[in-house]
Amino acid sequence: MTPFNKPFLIGSELKYIQEAVASGKISGNGKYTQKCQNFFEEKYDFGKCLLTTSCTDALEMAAILIDLEPGDEVIIPSYTFVSTANAFVLRGAKIVFADSGKDNPNLDATKLKSLISPKTKAIVLVHYAGIACDMDAIMELAHQYNLYVIEDAAQAIDSYYTGKDGIKKALGSIGHLATFSFHETKNIISGEGGMLVVNDLQFAKRAEIIWEKGTNRSAFFRGEVDKYGWVDVGSSFLPSEIIAAFLWAQLENLEKIQEKRKKLWEYYYKQFDLIADECKIKLPQIPQYATNNAHMFYIRFATLEERTKYIKMLKKQGILAVFHYISLHSSSFYSSKHDDRVLLNTDMFSNTLLRLPMFYELTEKEIDRIVNCFKETRC
Ligand SMILES: *Cc1c(COP(=O)(O)O)cnc(C)c1O
Repeated sequence: MTPFNKPFLIGSELKYIQEAVASGKISGNGKYTQKCQNFFEEKYDFGKCLLTTSCTDALEMAAILIDLEPGDEVIIPSYTFVSTANAFVLRGAKIVFADSGKDNPNLDATKLKSLISPKTKAIVLVHYAGIACDMDAIMELAHQYNLYVIEDAAQAIDSYYTGKDGIKKALGSIGHLATFSFHETKNIISGEGGMLVVNDLQFAKRAEIIWEKGTNRSAFFRGEVDKYGWVDVGSSFLPSEIIAAFLWAQLENLEKIQEKRKKLWEYYYKQFDLIADECKIKLPQIPQYATNNAHMFYIRFATLEERTKYIKMLKKQGILAVFHYISLHSSSFYSSKHDDRVLLNTDMFSNTLLRLPMFYELTEKEIDRIVNCFKETRC
């Protein structure tokens, strides 16, 4: 059996958890939370970082921070996980779904302008598979129309974008706000877990208050106020120190994890490149301005029928490959609220993209077995 994903312990996870428990402080915002947040702020030049219990929570914080009013519109790709949109729907926003580009599932920045109206408040983009969106184009439009940019960087840890100015920036450091996930299916994990990055520091103080249930508790513990109380809306967005301790053990090994994943990705690519024409499949394309963080290895088929055939064939051999996403604009929850525009590329990726097993402990031998299944079926 080759599973689709397999969470793993890479180092001192249990040791650090034990240490956190022994220290007598296992609620949030303690030593390990600080260590993780500092790591990101220093390594990737992020603004203020706040660990959260999920990327979903971080997106909800972002939606609260930009102060949406009823009727406000937010532009979001249709080809994404539900949380990207749900966080903004929860605040009463109308979602204007953007289509993907032709070559990769990221939103098509060349068509963004036509989606902007006087009610547009923000663009939420997803760096799909850790591959950067066209950030120069998006930031330019945002500046021109006075919009906030929120990067859903759930899949994009340790990946970069190089702009026209030649400067290489970490994904998550470019938008006003950004969100990450440490769910067990991502590159760096803590079971469930996430992070909000506040690059536009006008949001920094309020982000901390929303994080702490609407109280100024963090300022109180820093000695900035002599008592703390309810000062704003908020919720319980902090993870416990047990989760932060697990995450820290993974972050300490980030280079090692990334090196291994990239090696596996390259191997996949090399093997599939040899049979791509014969099997009528397309390989991922990475734009010049983007790096690859080996979050996922996907291929594309010519038709939905072809994909279904191959999923069945792989399953028979004990190999689990999965597809996603059901386009959000055609979901049962949102289709009646969608504005009827046809999103051809989104539907195309939804019908033809297939994700193959990708995890730290995957071996080249298992990849050979997967590639052989393709050869035997078709080539
Ligand atoms: C995984 C993922 C999320 C959700 O992350 P959680 O930490 O599980 O809440 C959101 N957006 C995208 C693009 C994702 O891949």
